[in-house]
Amino acid sequence: MRAQPTASHFVDGVYLEDTAGEPFDSIHAATGEVIARLHAATPAVIEAAMIAAERAQKEWASWMPVERSRVLRRVADLMRERNQELSELETLDTAKPIQETLVADATSGADALEWFASQAASIAGEAVPLGTDFAYTVREPLGVCVGIGAWNYPTQIACWKAAPALACGNAMVFKPSELTPLSTLKVAEIFMEAGAPAGLFNVVQGFGAVGAALAEHPTTAKVSLTGSVPTGGKVYTTAAAGMRHVTMELGGKSPMIVFDDADIEDAIGGAMLGNFYSTGQICSNGTRVFVQARIKDRFLERLIERTRAIRIGDPLDPETQMGPLISQAQREKVLGYIEAGKREGATLAYGGGVPTGAVYDDGTFIEPTIFSDVTDTMTIAKEEIFGPVLSLLTFESEDEAVARANGTPFGLAAGLFTRDLARAHRVAGSLQAGICWINTYNLTPVEIPFGGVKQSGLGRENGRAAMEFYSQLKTVHVGLGPVESPY
Ligand code: NDP
Repeated sequence: MRAQPTASHFVDGVYLEDTAGEPFDSIHAATGEVIARLHAATPAVIEAAMIAAERAQKEWASWMPVERSRVLRRVADLMRERNQELSELETLDTAKPIQETLVADATSGADALEWFASQAASIAGEAVPLGTDFAYTVREPLGVCVGIGAWNYPTQIACWKAAPALACGNAMVFKPSELTPLSTLKVAEIFMEAGAPAGLFNVVQGFGAVGAALAEHPTTAKVSLTGSVPTGGKVYTTAAAGMRHVTMELGGKSPMIVFDDADIEDAIGGAMLGNFYSTGQICSNGTRVFVQARIKDRFLERLIERTRAIRIGDPLDPETQMGPLISQAQREKVLGYIEAGKREGATLAYGGGVPTGAVYDDGTFIEPTIFSDVTDTMTIAKEEIFGPVLSLLTFESEDEAVARANGTPFGLAAGLFTRDLARAHRVAGSLQAGICWINTYNLTPVEIPFGGVKQSGLGRENGRAAMEFYSQLKTVHVGLGPVESPY
């Protein structure tokens, strides 16, 4: 593997350390090994990052769009060339299996950079004829954007934010979760290699307080957060005080509805992907699986059979399909939900415990878990668990399924499996979610917008829609006639 990051922060085109900042360790959750010691950003580091970003943004915005596009494209190419080493680092940082990180992290970041590179070259306003006069609009960058990320997809989150932000002519200061601080530093290095101005993409480390300091910094024009609903509320409030733009990618408790005419193996595949991929640590997971009563027994039986075959183990082993959770604290939280499920009367149909044996003893592993006989009022059906815990509920009619699916304050995603075309679109139209999948689940290609409704957030990442959230319109009205004044 190429060298690991050499200091905690990447500011103004170089690595930067300030040992006065609170120290913290990056731990490989599969073994408990410390893989790096870092320091949270001090006010001096934050200031340096904001000054560098402000300066770089002005330069970057003055470039020809096609030049900006070229740099973003080069970043994408370099990330793809280095996918193996970036994925290994991501696996050490997040403990997600290498078979996942090789296909879902640096590669999806590269997709975002490549796709928004093409958008960068085609930003334009419109001309509006006004009789004698006319007006035109200019789509302008916002300035310095702050990105704050969760720990499940650090590289992807950084790129999903940086790619549209930079395509629109902004600069970015990114703070990863302190649990996964390393991989975004390598992305920052690549930006420099690709020819971006120093300071265009900066990474500063730290806990919530650093995120809060960035969100309220006077230079910050926009804050884009990927995190939980409670953190979203705090960051939104801080941003509102300064009238700053926001994008909020928050949590969910998404429904997946399986009708009795569905291809059952596909539906089970979707339910497993939407509950067990990344050890269940995915915001859009379909954690409430509503299965039509007539097929429940068959569905559950095959679901258990296929879940039993999941290979849990060392995430660096290419055969491993499920790694540990990100931390001991997260495992305690998930085990607490499993206890609540049992206490409140759900049937533990599979898993629920911690695997034992030498491979598992020092890590934060957990078994993929299936509860059946879950009801809407149980804690496991209401709260986001962020672990591999699938809740199976049954329903009789379409109307009932839709009403119960919508009975949550969250609204990030939803899915449905059926062979009935009319019903598929009718139900998709009724579900309160930012994204609905029909006969598939959790696919998020860069070409399509992604984001939530209700408590799950606002704004959209990916797709052309994202450009709206990283730019603002200026209107210029050009008077060509005499000025009509009553005075
Ligand atoms: P958190 O909300 O705990 O943290 C998210 C980020 O915000 C972290 O970098 C965190 O720093 C930072 N932060 C915490 N407090 C503040 C504050 N007051 N001001 C500014 N920044 C702050 O989320 P997790 O990291 O635990 O991630 C899990 C959550 O993220 C889940 O709810 C999940 O659904 C959601 N998520 C949403 C996605 C989406 O696209 N909709 C995708 C992935 C995850 P620190 O880590 O140091 O606390």
